[in-house]
Amino acid sequence: MVEKSAQEPKKTKKKKIKFTTPELMSEAMERLRSWQADRKADLTCPNCGAPGVKIKDRSARPHSEWYAFKCTACGLDDAIHIPMASHRPPA
Ligand SMILES: [Zn+2]
Repeated sequence: MVEKSAQEPKKTKKKKIKFTTPELMSEAMERLRSWQADRKADLTCPNCGAPGVKIKDRSARPHSEWYAFKCTACGLDDAIHIPMASHRPPA
């Protein structure tokens, strides 16, 4: 057993992680698809890989879909926006 007590607690405000790279965005999309398939599934963070990332459906239907991601481990806090294809202007 190894105990590491040398780690100092960080007092600085945690930086919020955003989906700034295409890689991170596609990782997040994968999580979103798994979550949509099974909302009770255990998901890992698209950024740091820690379990327990939270996804929240904040969609404003029928115009667009919003899915907010939150990870307490790394500070990920952003949302994916998906414009809905069914929203079409009247012909
Ligand atoms: Zn994370």
